Amino acid sequence: MAGIEPQPGIMDIALYVGGKSSVDGVSNVIKLSSNENPFGPSPAAQDAVRRVVHEIHRYPSTDHAELRTAIAEVHGLQSSRIICGVGSDEVLQFLAQAYAGPGDEVIHTEHGFAMYAILAQSVGATPVEVAERERVVCVDTILAACSDRTKLVFIANPNNPTGTMIGLAEIERLADNLPPQAILVLDGAYADYVEGYDGGARLVESRQNVIMTRTFSKLYGLGGMRVGWGYGPQYIIDVLTRIRQPFNLSSVALKAAEAAIRDTAHVEKSREENTRWRAWLAEALAEHGVPSDASTANFVLARFGSPDEAGACDTFLQSQGILVRRVTGYKLPAALRITVGDEASCRRVAHCIGLFKAGAR
Ligand SMILES: *Cc1c(COP(=O)(O)O)cnc(C)c1O
Repeated sequence: MAGIEPQPGIMDIALYVGGKSSVDGVSNVIKLSSNENPFGPSPAAQDAVRRVVHEIHRYPSTDHAELRTAIAEVHGLQSSRIICGVGSDEVLQFLAQAYAGPGDEVIHTEHGFAMYAILAQSVGATPVEVAERERVVCVDTILAACSDRTKLVFIANPNNPTGTMIGLAEIERLADNLPPQAILVLDGAYADYVEGYDGGARLVESRQNVIMTRTFSKLYGLGGMRVGWGYGPQYIIDVLTRIRQPFNLSSVALKAAEAAIRDTAHVEKSREENTRWRAWLAEALAEHGVPSDASTANFVLARFGSPDEAGACDTFLQSQGILVRRVTGYKLPAALRITVGDEASCRRVAHCIGLFKAGAR
């Protein structure tokens, strides 16, 4: 419409494309395209949802106190410094809204999560893409790209879709050398899969310029519920809380997440199975001539000889009822991202890739 225009940047956004969830004419697909927990949600979370159903005529909590307490207890954090969002995507959105605008720069890495650039553009800021080194985030390159306009630096650690991560000393070096007006956002969507890694929580506590985000969508098996959270310095949390809608999380989502995080048995089992089958899958693929970087998350980035080969393999897998993720949009056209499923799914996808490689198409 002439005269009616959206804010600058919005129409430049390329729409987010999610993982496929169906194939025409194939029933019983194996979905390995969205990094979901193959064991589903915790039984305790399912019970909590059933119990709260009778109360959904009531408005939910506005301060999320019970969920924040549960998160704080389980992770050993201060509950006042936690903010909950509709997925961690919403916490990332609060950060963009509160800290970036026209003329500001938002740094993300070459193979980083697609939402970072989308969020920067949604607030009129300029996304700045920084190269990685052999599919690993490079602190020096990020620091070299910083300017007095840099407001946010988004890093996923472990990264999606590469599965690689950088160590705490490198993250510290990044945080300590950022320009004074910039915030380091550590996206910990996959931190739960790394034994002994706190996602950067201690770093948050010892710095004023670091915030960590986490999610219930991956290890906790609640992707459909849309719950995530952030942990940051109090002055940043106080800012984000002002732009958060008071009823952003439903009572159903709040209860499910609280039960899920307290169900440590389900969490442990999911993590252990993932570690075990991730190693098995990577090795099986390697035996078929398909290499991958050592993954620290719940997926493997399988590398093929060319974009054509990756595309042909994806097509073959779909014909076998297996959905994986093409990552051309992440500048990895010759790779396929494969979620680590349960044992049967891992065996099936490895078997089919073996058939493909053997030329049995
Ligand atoms: C899945 C994912 C998220 C989580 O998104 P939610 O909004 O919490 O579902 C965040 N960052 C990365 C890198 C992811 O892969």
